[in-house]
Amino acid sequence: MATATTYLIALGSNRPSRHGGPAATLAAAFAALPGQVAARSPVLPSAPIGPSLRRYANAAALLDSELSPPAMLAALKAIERDFGRRRGRRWGARTLDLDIILWGGGRWRTRPLTIPHAAFRTRDFVLTPAVAIAPDWRDPVTGLTLRQLRTRLTARCSIPRSAHRW
Ligand code: ATP
Ligand code: CA
Ligand code: CA
Repeated sequence: MATATTYLIALGSNRPSRHGGPAATLAAAFAALPGQVAARSPVLPSAPIGPSLRRYANAAALLDSELSPPAMLAALKAIERDFGRRRGRRWGARTLDLDIILWGGGRWRTRPLTIPHAAFRTRDFVLTPAVAIAPDWRDPVTGLTLRQLRTRLTARCSIPRSAHRW
């Protein structure tokens, strides 16, 4: 029998789905994740990036699953489709985005899947919810914990935040 591994999944939404607005969509997405949700972060609003001006809701989950990384990615994409996501412009409006940030097996690289997620270390909207549920999880690439990565990021970003950011 396969043994379960823990995945750190980032959830994002900036477009309503049949479940409601972005925050309600993420609440429904937690329940749809393929495995046992061991921890879930609060849902946080964040400023949009890229061509869409809609605001995002972001969250993170610890998920225990027996799926391999490619099978997990396929399952997450099926959930995105089920939630009404259309493939379109990268970073455009989307009902649901589910990314694999880390998993218990260390590094993984098979096209088109890379774990740890290539961009997560520079994204406060990923690190903040992740720190809420797994502050001591170590990134196998930098050797830093999620808490340390977030501290490093916020220390670098001394640009004042816009008043409506949070
Ligand atoms: P970003 O990757 O910058 O967060 P995105 O989430 O908007 O951008 P998508 O269009 O959702 O990008 O995904 C593009 C492709 O990235 C997916 O089809 C998937 O194959 C690939 N991918 C590579 N690594 C990962 C990962 N760790 N988690 C999820 N998708 C990944
Ligand atoms: Ca993403
Ligand atoms: Ca994605």
